[in-house]
Amino acid sequence: MRITSVGGGPAGLYAAVLLAQQGHDVTVVERNPAGVTHGWGVVFWEPLLASLRESDPPSAAQIADAAFAWNGQDVDVEGRGRVARPSGGYSISRQRLLDILTARAQELGVRTEFERGVAPGDDLDADLDADLVIAADGVGSAHRRALADDLAPTVDVGTNKYVWLATTKVYTSFLFAFVRSSAGWLWCHAYGYDADHSTFIVECSPETWRGLGLDRMGAAESRELLERLFARHLDGHPLVGLPTDPEAPLPWLEFRTLHCERWWCGRTVLAGDAAHTTHFAIGSGTTLALGDAIALGRALAGVTDAAGLPAALEQYQAERQAALAPSRRDARNSARWLEDLERYIDTDVDSFATLLHRRCSSLLAHLPPTIYVKAREVAERSGAARRVWSQASALRRSALVRRGS
Ligand SMILES: Cc1cc2nc3c(=O)[nH]c(=O)nc-3n(C[C@H](O)[C@H](O)[C@H](O)COP(=O)(O)OP(=O)(O)OC[C@H]3O[C@@H](n4cnc5c(N)ncnc54)[C@H](O)[C@@H]3O)c2cc1C
Repeated sequence: MRITSVGGGPAGLYAAVLLAQQGHDVTVVERNPAGVTHGWGVVFWEPLLASLRESDPPSAAQIADAAFAWNGQDVDVEGRGRVARPSGGYSISRQRLLDILTARAQELGVRTEFERGVAPGDDLDADLDADLVIAADGVGSAHRRALADDLAPTVDVGTNKYVWLATTKVYTSFLFAFVRSSAGWLWCHAYGYDADHSTFIVECSPETWRGLGLDRMGAAESRELLERLFARHLDGHPLVGLPTDPEAPLPWLEFRTLHCERWWCGRTVLAGDAAHTTHFAIGSGTTLALGDAIALGRALAGVTDAAGLPAALEQYQAERQAALAPSRRDARNSARWLEDLERYIDTDVDSFATLLHRRCSSLLAHLPPTIYVKAREVAERSGAARRVWSQASALRRSALVRRGS
């Protein structure tokens, strides 16, 4: 079949790799120039590497080589000490990941066309006349919007403000640092992703953002303020990735959580952020985008013409919607926890670190934070109590699933 992947992000490129392996004629069109993307490093965990190894060993080996291993999680609440928690994972520069996938796609015969945005309804575009169009054009997907009546997307806009920056300080542990400003709390999600850089995402409430004047400041002034607020954590290193024009605003955003009732329509199928997003605080969007590509490849195995597409795309949609349910729940709880920070921030720092670590729990919003921490401690000490605790969590989860939330 002739297949066009719109968008050269992780979903579009990896789908191209896997479908070219099956002998399809694949083109990737990407509106950015080669070597240009948004964002910095992204985290992932061992299960992703395992499924990449199964799907395409050569690119998996390169991704594993380029991965930066971080160990442990540090929670620092200003003036109240620091708690280190055992955990660990990997991260990789987004650009490095895309370079690996682009080279692998080209090696398998995929045509990659950069600096070419294609719009739905552009009948003159031969690539959109393919047997299958994979709309992997990110959260703002024009292809999804054009098919909105059939795909029924809904978007939930978070209230917190965030900006995705980087720094030359290399964190070997994942750092959550909370700092108090004259207008309220700000915090960073920071982790190394190569030998010279770390991701440094700053988040705060809209009241803090406006109260500090970040809504009106240009890049130079914002940088000076953020570097001062996080001075202890940046350790003399600069924040990087800001606009070069000192007067230009920083790209602050509110996270948009997207859900689509349907993922395909006619010969267009959604993949990655075009189909769904999960709040960045659970670090799973890239893993899910690659998982979509793997499931799409599996569903299309053996399909040789357009007649076989509806059944295959229906299977892909069902598999991925089911697989995404736990991440959607975790992401929603995690995002709400961070929007509700004032509820937790005044607990002692050990309790705060536990609450932060458990922020995906569906029970947490329904119990006073200190009671939750005590109940967990008891549950961790006693086998019987642990079983009751897991049953309570499972009941809460199934109630949410029944309510469809
Ligand atoms: C602050 C932040 C931190 C994150 N951290 C993590 C993390 O730690 N771990 C993790 O797993 N995920 C993380 N994510 C999520 C992750 O970045 C996305 O889920 C992932 O990039 C989705 O991949 P994608 O291929 O679907 O979309 P994208 O990466 O957005 O790629 C879409 C591509 O389509 C192109 N495009 C758009 N329109 C057109 C068009 N009309 N024609 C041609 N090309 C087009 C775009 O230029 C882009 O290159 C984070 C996200 C944010 C916002």
